[in-house]
Amino acid sequence: MYKITSRYLQQESFRSSPHKGIDFKMEIGEPIRSIKSGQIHLADYGNTNAGKTVFVEWEDGRTAIYGHLNEFAVKEGQHVNAGDLIGYAGNTGFSTGSHLHFSVKEGSKHIDPSPYMNDIQHMNDPSYFAQVSSDVKVSFFDYFQQHMDLIGTQLTDLKVNFVHFLALSDYSPIIKLLQNVIQFIFFNI
Ligand SMILES: [Zn+2]
Repeated sequence: MYKITSRYLQQESFRSSPHKGIDFKMEIGEPIRSIKSGQIHLADYGNTNAGKTVFVEWEDGRTAIYGHLNEFAVKEGQHVNAGDLIGYAGNTGFSTGSHLHFSVKEGSKHIDPSPYMNDIQHMNDPSYFAQVSSDVKVSFFDYFQQHMDLIGTQLTDLKVNFVHFLALSDYSPIIKLLQNVIQFIFFNI
């Protein structure tokens, strides 16, 4: 778990306005991952603001902002999935120690990013994002496998039954029936 060093709307003495995001204490070089799929936009504010900043434009219209990075790991316009590496934590911009600034915008307005805090806390757990996508894959595969097994069993049963039928049946009633049908068609018109 990363230590929270500044919460949403916190007003420390060094700030001219309430905090627009959440700060997570991180070492320089800590991998930063996108918590949702989206499109990358990059900005470098130099020694001001959030320094090297990655924006991920989510498909729901919101934008995630990852600030003070040491390095980018993505290119402008690139598409990323949840769990993809986007950069490395750092101390760039207006910052007094290495940390990740994370905020979420809806249109031009910052919203409370607290609902996404858990995703940030677990972004470097190897199974966290994999689970979300592989659950779907595994369940689909299981579903497919089960149904293929079922179809396979049914086909085998059908074949066995048919062989049994051929081997054990007395055809005479069927042949009789066919003869009657043929007779009906050809002689009774
Ligand atoms: Zn911050």
